[in-house]
Amino acid sequence: MASLSLKHIYKRYAGGVTAVTDFCLEIPDKEFVILVGPSGCGKSTTLRMIAGLEEISEGELYIGDKLVNDVAPKDRDIAMVFQNYALYPHMTVFENMAFGLKLRKTPKDEIKRRVEEAARILDIAHLLDRKPKALSGGQRQRVALGRAIVREPKVFLLDEPLSNLDAKLRAQMRTELTKLHIRLGTTFIYVTHDQIEAMTMGDRIVVMKDGLIQQVDSPENLYNTP
Ligand code: ADP
Ligand code: ADP
Repeated sequence: MASLSLKHIYKRYAGGVTAVTDFCLEIPDKEFVILVGPSGCGKSTTLRMIAGLEEISEGELYIGDKLVNDVAPKDRDIAMVFQNYALYPHMTVFENMAFGLKLRKTPKDEIKRRVEEAARILDIAHLLDRKPKALSGGQRQRVALGRAIVREPKVFLLDEPLSNLDAKLRAQMRTELTKLHIRLGTTFIYVTHDQIEAMTMGDRIVVMKDGLIQQVDSPENLYNTP
């Protein structure tokens, strides 16, 4: 059973833009899939449809064996990490990470357990009482990851999560994210336009152009063919 099936997915925005055309992909459990392509080719739109933040115009999206086209984002077994982190400035790190679980009425001791475990994994356990403004860029990125991890989702969606970091931190986070993927044992779908990230992190790369899938292949085949 694939963890995710996208069957002939289209997105037509009001005003006439077709952002995604006939997107078909089966993503097995635990795969690390990279979505690449030029700006405006439909990567974010695809991710947002999977998350449920954008309505699917046509086609079917399955998570496991469940058709989720009409399922609310919070009821999908999915968590998304955004490029701009989207942390709540007035909340502490703990509260930021706990927020999504509170929304789902997770018991308090369970929330505490999950937040503390995620914080340990991400090496931010000492920062739980801080507000986002008192964190470095790399720490903020870890909090954003932590907020997704605590939900223990089947699928992680990451939309250019490293693009706001400097080169050194980006290199470090590439390694950490690769390890995190293995440690969590979940499916990752990762949007980037950084070729190094695409080459080094993914099991499979999906190349998009003008809303269409151009090519799907392993990093080795995609980048090493003469
Ligand atoms: P990418 O993530 O690859 O840069 P997007 O998915 O953001 O691409 O955008 C794909 C296309 O859809 C672009 O032509 C963009 O202008 C258009 N688009 C994105 N969001 C909207 C929207 N909310 N309304 C109308 N058009 C949109
Ligand atoms: P409330 O829902 O009453 O406003 P909070 O959201 O402040 O409570 O905290 C929810 C739970 O998380 C509480 O059990 C609290 O003890 C725990 N908690 C809050 N901050 C931390 C922290 N920095 N480290 C560990 N546990 C915390």
